[in-house]
Amino acid sequence: CFILGIETSCDETAVAIVKNGREIISNVVASQIESHKRFGGVVPEIASRHHVEQITLVLEEAFEKAQLDWDDIDAIAVTEGPGLVGALLIGVSTAKALAFAKQKPLIGVHHIAGHIYANRLLAEFQFPLLALIVSGGHTELVLMKEHGRYERIGQTRDDAAGEAFDKVARMLNLPYPGGPHIDRLAAVGEETIDFPRAWLEKGSYDFSFSGLKSAVINKIHNAKQRQETLNKEDIAASFQASVIEVLTEKTYQAAEEFKVKQVIVAGGVAANKGLRMELEKRFSNTSIPLLTPPLELCTDNAAMIAAAGTISYQQGKRSDLALNANPALPLK
Ligand code: ATP
Ligand code: MG
Ligand code: FE
Repeated sequence: CFILGIETSCDETAVAIVKNGREIISNVVASQIESHKRFGGVVPEIASRHHVEQITLVLEEAFEKAQLDWDDIDAIAVTEGPGLVGALLIGVSTAKALAFAKQKPLIGVHHIAGHIYANRLLAEFQFPLLALIVSGGHTELVLMKEHGRYERIGQTRDDAAGEAFDKVARMLNLPYPGGPHIDRLAAVGEETIDFPRAWLEKGSYDFSFSGLKSAVINKIHNAKQRQETLNKEDIAASFQASVIEVLTEKTYQAAEEFKVKQVIVAGGVAANKGLRMELEKRFSNTSIPLLTPPLELCTDNAAMIAAAGTISYQQGKRSDLALNANPALPLK
């Protein structure tokens, strides 16, 4: 089957066509990063306006690149949440209008289910499966025993991993989004500062990054007061090492405890080179296969939404034209 995916939850306007949930036929992403950069973060009103301007063009390009037309499409999958409500609404309204006009089934998709299913574009899932989700708004460990069902075994108690990266980057006067810049600096820096690791209670798979964030702020602040020169590379390396160590170790512990057959990594922070290297190292001498998507499938795209939507489609799940954007949609 061919599923059309639409994603507009944040600052990427994206449309893709995916075959059988596994094969990308086309995957078009119009990023708005340049428009938000000077504000140091995503401005919701601007995001919505860009989505309105871009969506038709991106849709046309997705069909053009796929060399397909509407007769070939079996269903339309769209991100219904979570995300910015005004941004989500553009995708949802577009999908509903198209579903009505072209008489196609409509499928609402959870954005994080999408991030998870980006991995199925690389290899078939092996259950039970453990997903480490590290994105701009989420940091979670999710256990999956079958397609389309998600058990959350751990989550962040404060900031998301991506949020922590972006905030630390901002303190170092790096451009938005800061994650890739921290990643680049960390690669040349040295771990000279011993920032805290938030292990939380024994056996907990929850995360916390606010303590680490405060420690970094204090370090920068104190150095400025003492008029010491700040080595941005070393701060980035030390901060990133703390994040990576906790993410990697908790993922490994959970993978062992739940005896999973596969570990997958999802979300924008999965693009982090240090994290990918550390996870690969940690799992290399185990029998548990690890999947890390290519960078363009880590950050927001619509191929992942089409991939997740394919499972719902095959399970007979449908949304109706009353589908609404839900900025706080839970992952079930
Ligand atoms: P969510 O998926 O939770 O709704 P989002 O869609 O805004 O949030 P994503 O697009 O999945 O988030 O990821 C964006 C985040 O990933 C940003 O915080 C960005 O800084 C971070 N990021 C991207 N590349 C890297 C990298 N190489 N290292 C660390 N962080 C990165
Ligand atoms: Mg984004
Ligand atoms: Fe995302």
